[in-house]
This record gives sequence, C-alpha cells and structure tokens, in this order.
Amino acid sequence: MVTNGYLLMFGPEHAEEQYRALENHKECDAGTKNIKGSELSKVFPYVNNEGIETATYTDNQSEGWIDPFMFHSALKSKAIELGAEFIKGDVKSISEINAKTIVSAAGCWTKELLEDIPVVPQKHTVFRVKCPTYIKEMPLTGDLTTGVYWRPEGGEYLAGSPLSVFDADDLEPAWNDFEELVWPALAQRIPAFEELKLTGGWAGYYDCNKLDNNAVVGKHPKYENVYMASGFTGRGLMQAPGIGRALTELITTGSYQTIDISEFAVERVLGNNARPEPYVL
Ligand SMILES: Cc1cc2nc3c(=O)[nH]c(=O)nc-3n(C[C@H](O)[C@H](O)[C@H](O)COP(=O)(O)OP(=O)(O)OC[C@H]3O[C@@H](n4cnc5c(N)ncnc54)[C@H](O)[C@@H]3O)c2cc1C
Repeated sequence: MVTNGYLLMFGPEHAEEQYRALENHKECDAGTKNIKGSELSKVFPYVNNEGIETATYTDNQSEGWIDPFMFHSALKSKAIELGAEFIKGDVKSISEINAKTIVSAAGCWTKELLEDIPVVPQKHTVFRVKCPTYIKEMPLTGDLTTGVYWRPEGGEYLAGSPLSVFDADDLEPAWNDFEELVWPALAQRIPAFEELKLTGGWAGYYDCNKLDNNAVVGKHPKYENVYMASGFTGRGLMQAPGIGRALTELITTGSYQTIDISEFAVERVLGNNARPEPYVL
C-alpha cells in the first residue's frame, strides 16, 4: 500500500459542510487535519490555493491507495481458504436461488435483479498522464471546486473526470473530458501540471444509487432471506471491508454489533428518503 494519505480542497461554497463533517471525523478519531486555504502552501508547496477556503488531509501513514485487483484476489483467496465455494453463472431472477441467505452484490447491474433498487451503471473515465515534474510524495488529491481528483501512479499520475454519465452506449473513455475539464483543472491547481501529456485512460461503470449516491446495505424488507450490498459509486473498494463486516454481523446476529450502518438501510431507498452524498469523485 502507498501511504501518501489524502488531501481534499474545498471552496467557500462547501466549507461549512466540511466543518460539520470534521466534527464527525473527530468523534470517530479519524486522524484528519484541517487547514485554511491560505495555509495550503506551507504543507503542499506545489499547490495553487486560489479559490480554496479550507482543506482536509491526513499524514499519519494510515491512508493511501492499494492495487484493487490484488485486494480483491486477497479477499477471495482467504474466503476460499475458509471454505467458500465460488460458482459462476448468470442469475436471471433472485427467486431462482435456493439458499438460506442471499446477499445481492450485483454492483451496477442491481436494478436488473431487484427492480425497486435504483442502482444503475454510470460511466466514469480515469486518465493516465505523464508530467516532466513527478511529485512522488503527492497524496491522493481531490479538488472539490472542479470535481477533479488525481494521484501519483508509478512515475505517472491518474486523474479522474468530474463528469460521470448514465445510459452510456459503450466504455470508450470520454477523451474530450481530458482537454475540456481535467487538464485545465489540473494545470490551474498544480502549476507544474501545465506541461503534462495524456498517456492513456479507461472507463468503467460506477454502481450509482440514483436516489442519493449512497450505498444500499442491509436486509431487503420484501424478502425473507435477501440482503443487499451495492450502490457504492466510486467508493466500493474503500468501503468493502467495513460493509462486509457489518453485514456479516447483521446476518449472523440479527443486528449490527461493531459498525452501525443502518443509515444505508434498504428501507430508506424504498421509502424515497434520500440521504444525499454531497461529494462524488
Ligand atoms: C473507473 C472507476 C474508478 C473507481 N475508483 C475507485 C476508487 O478509487 N476507490 C474505490 O473505493 N472505488 C472505486 N471505484 C468503485 C468500485 O470499483 C466499485 O464501487 C466496486 O467495484 C463495487 O464492487 P461490488 O462488488 O459491489 O460490484 P462489482 O465489482 O461490480 O461486482 C458485481 C458482480 O456481480 C456480478 N453480477 C451482476 N449481475 C449478475 C447476475 N445477474 N448474475 C450473476 N452475477 C452478476 C458481476 O458480474 C460482478 O462480478 C471505481 C470505479 C470505477 C468504474
């Protein structure tokens, strides 16, 4: 794991919301630090702080990024070691599964199986860029004034488009987003990025909960034995270990024990009670 931490920068329009979020960070002992935009250059000298009201970051080596494929493989290997059996197949309907407990974790295809859960594919593009100046110690950085995020990746950088689209016909990367949105935002925030070159890109589907951009996790009240875990948008990898543990507790004991994620409940979605996520990167 690369432990460069993260940095999120907010303009005046999001500052109050972020100050409230920080109270929650404190309660959870999250180890985050917060500074004024005017102080940014003391900690991150390569950042242009124009338009930044406040910024939150970590530097305690507890956060960073990992290889998602390796992470997935490690979890799968451990599950197999503990006795799990993986069976490949296309499920046409939940009712065809004969099991004591079913966890529907169908990602962006959720609505195809459970019509009442509005989790659908949302195409998101990530670009790979190269810059003569490589700032190895740069954290994963999100600029909430533009919605663009980026991080170092093996001598280059990855940068995500601020636009994600529904009803995409294919997974061709949204190349225009690079010239029109991503590069200008990167160059404005990190002057060294003025010289960067596009070296690649790919697109995938976010599993987007159209109601409020938050996860849908818990027991589905219309079924005796169906639980849900989907709608993670761009956060599924990060949230997976906590979701897995909480859901295991719910299934085996009937309630959450160590992690209470009842705010993600299926009932909220069925009752149209949105709990909107303000920041989707
Ligand atoms: C470009 C991009 C960048 C991202 N970056 C990040 C990031 O930096 N950090 C982060 O935390 N998250 C990130 N995400 C989000 C993350 O990848 C997802 O939230 C996560 O993969 C969701 O995992 P999942 O297991 O719920 O769903 P999936 O990984 O989509 O798995 C769903 C599985 O269900 C199967 N399935 C679906 N329907 C059926 C059916 N009817 N029958 C049988 N099988 C079925 C599918 O084949 C698939 O294997 C990113 C996503 C994209 C697209």
